[in-house]
Amino acid sequence: MDAFDPDERKIFVPEEIQESIRTLIRWAGDDPDREGLADTPKRVARAWREYCQGYDADPGEHLSRTFAEVGGYDEIVVLKNIPFQSHCEHHMAPITGTASIAYLPTDRVVGISKLARVLHGYAERLQVQERLTAQVAQAIWDNLRPQGVAVVIEAQHGCMTGRGVKTHGVGMVTSRMLGCFLDNPESRKEVLALMNKC
Ligand SMILES: [Zn+2]
Repeated sequence: MDAFDPDERKIFVPEEIQESIRTLIRWAGDDPDREGLADTPKRVARAWREYCQGYDADPGEHLSRTFAEVGGYDEIVVLKNIPFQSHCEHHMAPITGTASIAYLPTDRVVGISKLARVLHGYAERLQVQERLTAQVAQAIWDNLRPQGVAVVIEAQHGCMTGRGVKTHGVGMVTSRMLGCFLDNPESRKEVLALMNKC
């Protein structure tokens, strides 16, 4: 839990953290003492606590409350195009995109918003897209014990669009299939069709 700064009614930012951000501003070529940048170190520090708040919890816990009563429903559950933001662990640059998450229940389902919470819990960390995709799929697999899980993520990487090759509009697609979606080509085709990914 972060300490609280009662004067500012926000989390307390230690001096060494502020100084490290001033150093970065100097390194970027600007003067951290000019007026417009005076409060920037605190803002950046607090923004980063927020970007990375996924470290504070185990995202799988969102899946601990399940419903066994599914009224005979035995088809695929899909949540499509959930927007998310993450940050790449190589450049700490933004990753923005959408995820589609599906599972075929065995005997338990979760509230649909919980799938988005699992996504955000892993996205709000320093990530690579491949691992984010795998972690979301694995959390659903471990907690719901479904017949299959499919996760497809499409995202743009700030480290590609804003620097280096500056390729705007280029999306990266990753997917993770488990259970029947991995083993059975028909099931995979069905879930990708439901996600509009084929
Ligand atoms: Zn990167």
